[in-house]
Amino acid sequence: MSRAVIALGANLGDRGSTLRAASTAIAALPGVRPVASSREVESTAVTLDGPDTTKPRYRNAVVVVETELRPQQLLDALHGIEDAHGRTREVRWGDRTLDLDLVAYDTETVDTATLTVPHPRAAERAFVLAPWLDADPDAVLPGAGPVADLLAALGDDTERVDEPRLFDDPGRPDEPQVRP
Ligand code: ATP
Ligand code: CA
Ligand code: CA
Repeated sequence: MSRAVIALGANLGDRGSTLRAASTAIAALPGVRPVASSREVESTAVTLDGPDTTKPRYRNAVVVVETELRPQQLLDALHGIEDAHGRTREVRWGDRTLDLDLVAYDTETVDTATLTVPHPRAAERAFVLAPWLDADPDAVLPGAGPVADLLAALGDDTERVDEPRLFDDPGRPDEPQVRP
C-alpha cells in the first residue's frame, strides 16, 4: 500500500457539495482507503495573469488515502471523477467545477508526459499546503520539506471555511472514533 495526497479545488457550481461528493467518490475507488481529510479553505482565483478578484473564489481541500493503485492509475481514476462533475478544459487555470491533483505519492517521483509527482507547484500554493497541514500536521512534501515550514515561509492567504472535515478520519487520535 502507498500513501497518496490529493488536492481538490472548485470555483464553479455548489463548490462545497462538489468537494464533498468528490472526496466520497475518491474514498470509494477500488483499491483506495481513506486516511485523513482537511476542512475546506477559500481563496482568490489565480489565473495565468495572477490573482483575479473578478473570478469566482475557490474552495480547496486535501484528502490523504492509502492505495494499491499506481500513480497513473490513480490519476486516471481522479480524471473520471472530474469528468463526472462536468469538468471541462478550455483555458489553462480557467474556472472549473472540479480539479483533482495528485500532490504526492509516498516519496516517489514521477515525471512522464501526463504526470509529475510531487506536484511541481504545490510548494508555492497556500491553498494546497494549508489544507494538507490541516489533514496531516506531520506532512512532508518530498524534496521540499515539512509542509508546516513551507506554509510559514509562503504565508497563508486562505480562509478556513466553517464546515466539518470532508470525511471522517478513522486514524485521527484527537477526535471521536466513528468506526468500530
Ligand atoms: P496545475 O497543474 O498548475 O494545478 P491544472 O490543475 O489547472 O494546473 P489541468 O488542466 O487540470 O491543470 O491538468 C493538465 C494535465 O496535468 C492533466 O491532464 C495531467 O495529465 C497533468 N498532470 C501532471 N502532473 C499532474 C499531477 N500531479 N496531478 C494532476 N494532473 C497532473
Ligand atoms: Ca490544479
Ligand atoms: Ca489538475
